[in-house]
Amino acid sequence: MFASVLSAVIMGMEVHPVQVEADVSDGLPSFTMVGFPSAQVKEAQDRVRTALKNNKIALPPKRITVNFAPADIKKQGAGFDIPVAAAVLAAAGIFESESLKGVMMAGELSLNGEIQAISGILPIVIRAREEKCRFCIVPAGNMKEAGLVPDMKVIGVRNLQEMIRFLKNPDSYKEDPIPQSVEYKETDDADFCDIRGQKSLRRAVEIAVSGFHNLLMIGPPGAGKTMVARRIPGIMPPLSFEESLELTKIYSIAGLLSEADPLVRERPFRSPHHTSSAQAMAGGGKNPRPGEITLAHRGVLFLDEMPEFSRRSLEILRQPLEDRVIRISRVSGTYTFPADFILCAAMNPCPCGYYPDMNKCRCTSGQVTGYLNKLSQPLLDRLDLCADAEQVSFSSLNGNGGECSSVIRKRVERVHEVQRERYKKEKIQFNGELQGKQIEMFCTTEREAAVLMEKAFEQMGFSARSYHRILKVARTIADMEGADIIRRQHVGEALSYRAFEKKYWI
Ligand SMILES: [Zn+2]
Repeated sequence: MFASVLSAVIMGMEVHPVQVEADVSDGLPSFTMVGFPSAQVKEAQDRVRTALKNNKIALPPKRITVNFAPADIKKQGAGFDIPVAAAVLAAAGIFESESLKGVMMAGELSLNGEIQAISGILPIVIRAREEKCRFCIVPAGNMKEAGLVPDMKVIGVRNLQEMIRFLKNPDSYKEDPIPQSVEYKETDDADFCDIRGQKSLRRAVEIAVSGFHNLLMIGPPGAGKTMVARRIPGIMPPLSFEESLELTKIYSIAGLLSEADPLVRERPFRSPHHTSSAQAMAGGGKNPRPGEITLAHRGVLFLDEMPEFSRRSLEILRQPLEDRVIRISRVSGTYTFPADFILCAAMNPCPCGYYPDMNKCRCTSGQVTGYLNKLSQPLLDRLDLCADAEQVSFSSLNGNGGECSSVIRKRVERVHEVQRERYKKEKIQFNGELQGKQIEMFCTTEREAAVLMEKAFEQMGFSARSYHRILKVARTIADMEGADIIRRQHVGEALSYRAFEKKYWI
């Protein structure tokens, strides 16, 4: 007898439906799997067989063949255990093969018949809805995650017996309402009002967040660079439900969701250590998984001690900083992951940390140059703003903190609103994303501003890329002031955030 059920394989961010077919026929008893299963998927037959035996379900001594279609995609992951079990059981006549029609299932089986939660359930259930499936069967541990998808019936099963009981008699099943709440709690107690002093740094951070620009903070150790960085997500507008779902999908594929509260509600703040490999940053593996830069999507990627990162780990950022996606090539194809984040980097100006304060700096000029040159020019060109983190003075330590995050966030939200309105016909949201023709179209400058730009371009020898980036930052500064046209003072301020190249990189 023959039976088949739908499952899926995840490649990069994409879900490919896979038909799992089973045939049980007369002949020498055997269990064969065909249709390009990976070694891990092939092991499903041992798990299925043992789990069935331990649940006192005997398979007939016949020839069992399982086929995965289409054959040209490699089947990976542990999610094929329960569809294989279900197809084989239906083909062996344990329940009607009709009951598997229009059903999508995925889940891992342990030897005692328990069904284990797997990563990537959310995108699989979303795909099931697109495929117009009747319902999905998922591990009970993935139930809350699967329940985030509206308009899709999902059944959570704890073990093999429960799955069989349900498939024998689907009508007996009573749907448990899945509690769905999309409350956003205020981010933890990290608030900008804790930051003393740092007026210019705070201003640079607000510009960066307002226009989605990248930021480099330079300053001596202990100036509070990390403290400032950690507070950036708190001044970004809360995620919309669609953005939450998009992030939950990424974290689901990465296997990083919490079972109890799977929805990602807060903007990510990723802070990979400087020993992180290029693969950990970009994402990798044979079947690539999201890396740090994808996990920072719609949030902040914080690189503390930037020059300490390996050259390869840093250079890999260049393409995603331009395209806002990362492409990873494998023999099996090219995978694209979203990577639209604010890069916030921090560094000491020299190995000891106190350059250019010559009273304190103990480094030779060769050491300083060597340290700064760890960052390549093309990478520096991609950092829109650079601000000094000042050593906190005693008087500012005792003074009051600055504005609270919620006050700054209100202003940021208003500037985002202006950009959304302006770019509603474009495929972008923020000034930081402007490219090519769009820059000419939307970054109109008054004459004096253009003159200043031209002068600076000649004197400071900017590359075309940094020229455009300065213009985009000026656009954001103008938006923060509610100005339609970019004025001289906006360009002037934007230029001041590029002065670092002259100050440090001499
Ligand atoms: Zn030094």
